[in-house]
Amino acid sequence: MIQLLNYINGEFVQAHSTETINNINPGTGMVYGTIPRSQTADINAAVAAATEAFPAWSSLSSEERSTILVRIADGIQANAEALAQAESVDNGKPISLSRAVDISRAEANIRFFATGILHFASEAHPNNAFVNYTLRKPIGVVGCISPWNLPLYLFTWKIAPALAVGNCVVAKPSELTPYTAYLFSKICAEAGLPNGVLNIVHGLGPEAGEAIVQHNGIKAISFTGGTVTGRHIASVIAPKFKKMSLELGGKNANIIFNDAQMDLAVSTTVRSSFANQGQICLCGSRVLIQANIYEQFKAALIEKVSKIKPGNPLDPNTRMGALVSEAHLNKVLSYVALAKEEGGNILLGGERVQLNDENAGGFFMQPTIIEGLGPQCRTNQEEIFGPVITLQSFETEEEAIALANASVYGLAASIWTENVTRAHRVAQKLETGIVWVNCWLERDLRTPFGGVKQSGLGREGGWEAMRFFTEPQNVCISVPKQ
Ligand code: NDP
Repeated sequence: MIQLLNYINGEFVQAHSTETINNINPGTGMVYGTIPRSQTADINAAVAAATEAFPAWSSLSSEERSTILVRIADGIQANAEALAQAESVDNGKPISLSRAVDISRAEANIRFFATGILHFASEAHPNNAFVNYTLRKPIGVVGCISPWNLPLYLFTWKIAPALAVGNCVVAKPSELTPYTAYLFSKICAEAGLPNGVLNIVHGLGPEAGEAIVQHNGIKAISFTGGTVTGRHIASVIAPKFKKMSLELGGKNANIIFNDAQMDLAVSTTVRSSFANQGQICLCGSRVLIQANIYEQFKAALIEKVSKIKPGNPLDPNTRMGALVSEAHLNKVLSYVALAKEEGGNILLGGERVQLNDENAGGFFMQPTIIEGLGPQCRTNQEEIFGPVITLQSFETEEEAIALANASVYGLAASIWTENVTRAHRVAQKLETGIVWVNCWLERDLRTPFGGVKQSGLGREGGWEAMRFFTEPQNVCISVPKQ
């Protein structure tokens, strides 16, 4: 049994209550460890440590903070295989994905902001007899709360810019996927991060997470998770006037025009539908196909997807692993039942998968393709967040845009066409924060990342993140002409 601990003020400690929560391996369904069930007392200790650490950390030069953060990135690199194994055991994702995406991106996140801080500058506005300049000051103690789907990847995406600009952090990973956050805290300690600068507290969202959100000593919240949780957090912190960055759910459209490069569009759609078991906020769960290639595209997609077999997440050949929990698997299966009730036709999959041996109790599901449902039904409106996609057809560009925008969400979309004018025109009309053309999930860390409508508030990435984690202060100086 692996016993994870909180990282508070540089020490590895249990929860004050000494209570723990079981940690389950989704690939086996078995409990393999425990995490602290932290509550308000633990968050109070973390905020106190962060508050005490803040004056010294924020007074370091950018170069000094950068040096420490680069050492942390080196630590991730040196421990990459152990982290990848931990991520797959904890989350159920294929080890190939943990290695190629999750852990390498976590390292890149830290390195990106560690070096970004060396280039971060603020503005000056000279005008006649006055010069204004903008100071960008760290906020103080900030809270970072992340979900289970890309655990270390999203955890570091928030922590890195927050620390780089001089804040101290109280962070909580999802209780479902705490393992790599714990290993990361060990790496931070070994890298010489001063005590209290980063505090990682484990526990349940409505307890430890809520205590972070409520705490008056925490001046900003960066949250990634579901829209319902995000709405609740916004309702708590808006009256407290805390800064907030909310990265929430999605119901992304993947629009295939009849002039798309068919092979590339099909193979990328397989990835954008089912990577990480469809548990990526950027997955394209609504595939919109122009009517005169609908049958051809559908047949090619089914042919490819039918070859995907869920397997042991730790097998390097596995391309589809387990869903994160039994509760989540049941939720996703309930959407397949709903799709049938709504009149949908299950073209492929739709069932739980029973593996053998040590994976017999794991939470596996067939990749699932559904057609025959209109844009307003719940299956096409609600975020399923699993290996389930729907197909819809459209005749015209206008119809494609209307279908794509027929959602309360607005995170991302993909367009497949060889017509560059149409690509620009459609991109501008899509109500999303991100548009990919003839590609998917290509991420340049400098670009603004986030959604519109109920997909969130604010942007992460590049200067956007560093600006979010700082408070601008304008200083106006009189410069008399004589
Ligand atoms: P949740 O909203 O359930 O949880 C996200 C995090 O918030 C977890 O750490 C959770 O803790 C915590 N939490 C839960 N309740 C509270 C609370 N009252 N106060 C403070 N924190 C709380 O989302 P999931 O973990 O289920 O993640 C999936 C969702 O995340 C999907 O909707 C997905 O679209 C979205 N997402 C969005 C992304 C984006 O960039 N827009 C990227 C990735 C995912 P615990 O798990 O311990 O309960």
